[in-house]
Amino acid sequence: MRHLPIVVFAAALIAGPAIAQTPSLAAGAAAARDKALSDTTAWDVVESLTTEIGPRPVGSPAMQRARDWGVATLKRLGFENVHVENFTTNAWSRGPESAEVVAPFAQKLAILGIGGSSPTPAGGITAPIVVFTSYQALLDQPVGALTGKIAVVTQAMGRTQDGSSYGVVGVQRRNGAVEAAKRGAVAYLARSLSTDDTRLPHTGAGTPAGIPMAALSTVDAQLLERMAGRGKPVSVHLEMASSVNPAAEAWNVVGEIRGRAKPDEVIVVGGHLDSWDPGTGAVDDGAGVAIQTAAAKLAGEAAGRPRRTIRVVMWGSEEQNGSGAAYAAAHKTEADKIIIAGESDGGSGRIWSVATPPAANGHPAMVAFRAALPPLKATVNSTPPRSGGSDIAGLMGLKVPFVDFNQDMSRYFDLHHSADDTLDKIDPAELAQNVAVWAAFLYVAANSDVDFRPKPAAP
Ligand code: ZN
Ligand code: ZN
Repeated sequence: MRHLPIVVFAAALIAGPAIAQTPSLAAGAAAARDKALSDTTAWDVVESLTTEIGPRPVGSPAMQRARDWGVATLKRLGFENVHVENFTTNAWSRGPESAEVVAPFAQKLAILGIGGSSPTPAGGITAPIVVFTSYQALLDQPVGALTGKIAVVTQAMGRTQDGSSYGVVGVQRRNGAVEAAKRGAVAYLARSLSTDDTRLPHTGAGTPAGIPMAALSTVDAQLLERMAGRGKPVSVHLEMASSVNPAAEAWNVVGEIRGRAKPDEVIVVGGHLDSWDPGTGAVDDGAGVAIQTAAAKLAGEAAGRPRRTIRVVMWGSEEQNGSGAAYAAAHKTEADKIIIAGESDGGSGRIWSVATPPAANGHPAMVAFRAALPPLKATVNSTPPRSGGSDIAGLMGLKVPFVDFNQDMSRYFDLHHSADDTLDKIDPAELAQNVAVWAAFLYVAANSDVDFRPKPAAP
């Protein structure tokens, strides 16, 4: 039990010598917060994951090493009941890829296949392109209008603090190939969902459409717009290989800090262990794994042993789906004992607002949590949480209450799913601020009887 020495320290400092005595909710939340701001656990976790494992697509050998790394990391940090929960999922993996303009201005293009893409036939595809500067312009095409063509959508994504532009423009990656194929296209290219102006394309999952689909770097999307604007036919050659394993082995890695009074009442938090392949999955989502692991550890230490159980889940297949559904299916019967669920999957930018279920607003635990926030410059969003994240969506479907802590995503989409998603992009101070918010929250949720479920209306 690595956290015992700190238990003694915290208890002696705040509540006297008896370990059984825990600090008040407000004092405990503040202590967890302050410890987090100078603690390096989260940084050490994401540094280790990105350095020792690297890119971790589901179904890859690296993901097996990530599973073992997750188990070892949780054990080393003093978590209990560390185990692996198996499931199988569909896993797409990339092969060699290239694209070039062959006429009228021959030059190479920077692309990354979109997850779920079909391969090109051997020798590739050469076809004229049709450029649409908005997704709607693609949708406006009648069936058959793109027969034999490569459809290209070049709509740009705006920079937003809450990342909402990803939800709006994201459809061109997620579903564009389906719409292009319906209209007869032989392949589909989309401007990357990126706010950067580098030549690095950004990948991500798309709906399989039976045709090759790839993301263009933002600057190559602009290049194709300019070429098409010259009025002469533009022809592109595309070669892409990939494979699919419809039943790849995958895992959720779990560790707990067991509650002392109500161990079967569980708070579930986590981040996803898998990543896309071009970068090392630092901001997506090594940071989330690190934030939640560190926050759970610190919240547990601040109380000695918390009243309720804090459970950290390192989800094993977020990018290509599967881990959230597998987790919800395996924990269906436990759902009414899950007090609250939370997820960190928005990079490493600081948390700027928190939304918690309004049913608990007046509870002393939430009063204490809110009181811990001003030094962290995080504000309370009075509207109920809308979306907790894709890996807890399955639990949300089982009516498990959830929180939504909004990270500053202004820079996230410069890096997301690209070769630039690497450790050096993480600001240790911003990472620590995330840990501090979560640690304060986990402290109050695990050391109180707060109930986040809506109460039945009074008669
Ligand atoms: Zn993610
Ligand atoms: Zn992602």
